[in-house]
Amino acid sequence: MADDKNEEGTEFRLVAKDELRFEVESKATVVMEMMEGKGEIFGTELAKGRKYKFSAGAKVAVYTWHGCKIKLNGTTEVAYISKETPMLMYLNTHVALEQMRVKADEENTRGPRAIIVGPTDVGKSTLCRILCNYGARLGRAPIFADLDVGQGHTDIPGTLGALSVERPSDPEEDYSQLSPLSFHFGHKSPGDNITLYSLLVQRLAEVINLRCEKSKKTNVSGCIINTCGWIRGEGYNMLKMAAGAFEVDSVMVIDQERLYTELRRDLPEFVSVVLLPKSGGVVERSKNTRAEARDARIREYFYGIDNSLYPHTFEIKFTEVKIYKIGAPELPESCLPLGMNAEDHKTKVVPVIPSMSLLHHVFSVSAANSIEDNITETNVIGFVVITAIDMEKQAFSVLAPSPRPLPKNVLLMMDIQFMDIK
Ligand code: ATP
Repeated sequence: MADDKNEEGTEFRLVAKDELRFEVESKATVVMEMMEGKGEIFGTELAKGRKYKFSAGAKVAVYTWHGCKIKLNGTTEVAYISKETPMLMYLNTHVALEQMRVKADEENTRGPRAIIVGPTDVGKSTLCRILCNYGARLGRAPIFADLDVGQGHTDIPGTLGALSVERPSDPEEDYSQLSPLSFHFGHKSPGDNITLYSLLVQRLAEVINLRCEKSKKTNVSGCIINTCGWIRGEGYNMLKMAAGAFEVDSVMVIDQERLYTELRRDLPEFVSVVLLPKSGGVVERSKNTRAEARDARIREYFYGIDNSLYPHTFEIKFTEVKIYKIGAPELPESCLPLGMNAEDHKTKVVPVIPSMSLLHHVFSVSAANSIEDNITETNVIGFVVITAIDMEKQAFSVLAPSPRPLPKNVLLMMDIQFMDIK
């Protein structure tokens, strides 16, 4: 479908409502340029003549409402134009949210709170991005809340977070320029500690409510909530819990009639539940690809996109930090101290003794000062990875985004590991 291929790249001519989809081959980069017309990537308008660089594995869609000419330079795994997209329905969804904002503005009430749900690989995160970007293009500042601990769209995997989208996200960098509010979960699936997950979802909703109370713009702009693709059994209960915690008024279900019917049945009547189609462009990811994406996200935190950041490695003595893990191993009821139930264990802050088993684990740097603070519900301010341990010297080497010293000394251990090899 390419119009023209030469040494300078491949040109694609898109007419109104066309979408150019491409994937960057592994170990390759692709430079994209819009030569004429108007186009957007996941809701962000493209600047004519700017060269956008996408790295290995990127899956990109350029949509145009009016028509445009795009040039791609580099090795793509696929690159094709599609005329079948759900973009008109996604735009209508945005229009409905905007109407709610206008009403909220006039009546001085809360703006829309929408949660996006559906199975894995249906484009939930992408729809969140489109809706946030469309909102920002109208001068709104919607909060994007990410409950998908497996991917970490606002920060790194293993966290729940939120950020205020005041400007459309950069097509190359997504939200990486914004500083998110993050809470430490420590695992890649909510199922690894459902009690902690529920607690943190509620805490995140609480903090967002406080922000909304302080700023009318934030309150009116509303909140777009991303979820993970776990929609059966306990996963379904987690979705209902999240909808309740954020007091959502809209639920967008992508590509699953069964989930749509269940939520319509189980959520209060004032919540509007809408079924939306999935885009044919959304790429299915294997377990391996997901693990690679997680790794890439952590690498990006330390090294930046395109290795634009220079992290630091330095030594810290065991005595300089206090390491904890959230959640103690489950004990039978009969072994629990009086007055404590098994659920309390799941959110308990447990000291971790330095040992070789900490090697390559990711650690959140808590904003808490000591165990006296409520560490579980305190936000985190950064991450480090333990890259070497010297038991004799009683010291770790850590990979950190900034030089010595660490900003705080309470570290929370994640299940998630990262190998710092290029
Ligand atoms: P999960 O819940 O499993 O994390 P998801 O439902 O949130 O997945 P996304 O992350 O939004 O799915 O999309 C999966 C991949 O498909 C992403 O890499 C995204 O860039 C890509 N993608 C989304 N929409 C399109 C499209 N229209 N054309 C090409 N690629 C797309």
